[in-house]
Amino acid sequence: SRTKIVAGNWKMNQNLFEGKQLVTDILKRSSNLSENVKVVIAPPFTQLELAASQIKDTEGFYLAAQNCHQEKAGAYTGEVSAYMLKSVGVDYVILGHSERRQYFGEDETLLAKKVNAVLDAEMKVIFCVGEPLEIRDANTQNELVKKQILGGLFHLDATQFEKIVIAYEPVWAIGTGRTATAEQAQDMHAFIRSVIEEKYGNDMAANTTILYGGSCNPANAATLFACPDVDGGLIGGASLKADDFDAIIKAA
Ligand code: 13P
Repeated sequence: SRTKIVAGNWKMNQNLFEGKQLVTDILKRSSNLSENVKVVIAPPFTQLELAASQIKDTEGFYLAAQNCHQEKAGAYTGEVSAYMLKSVGVDYVILGHSERRQYFGEDETLLAKKVNAVLDAEMKVIFCVGEPLEIRDANTQNELVKKQILGGLFHLDATQFEKIVIAYEPVWAIGTGRTATAEQAQDMHAFIRSVIEEKYGNDMAANTTILYGGSCNPANAATLFACPDVDGGLIGGASLKADDFDAIIKAA
């Protein structure tokens, strides 16, 4: 059966000391994971090395970065490469988050390069897709999500695609308190699986972990995670509170 993942995307929150305490609190509550569940913590760059040392002895805990540059090294002031992230113990890189697409102009061409950079550095990718509200209102969300997957991922061969986790995050649900219904999430996740199947076949489609993200919280996590094609969550706000994050982990 597919690996379940609960990932906490801290976004631009927590200084070094706050973040250290948060990881300590999460480990205290959540270190007895059920089999087949992985927890991924995605703090800011400044926290990665410390968080790596904090989680290294706890089974089932992994570290993610929230972004990386597409080149390995060079004159790109202010940027961090996949190769550097690998060296501090990062396991996954989140790419294509709607905030990166919206505020930093990241498009499919750029994201495809970043995906390559992460795989070249021998890490995995959590690739985010999802539609803004006007697309949902026009009921064209499937077309947009398919385009995002094709443009960002479908240049990969099968061995590479095995390293991909997909996160469906409808933009209208991110940080709004308006979660997708279980039916909306299930429909989209099943659609994403069918898109993967068309290119990579039935086994790959059946084995790809697909996460839901957007106002996921302790009250709705169990219902969302019970959907047959929802394999866990990418959690924003609720991942900053150890009790809430632990409750979501236990719902997976
Ligand atoms: P919220 O859980 O705060 O809605 O954020 C979701 C998200 O964007 C995770 O990447």
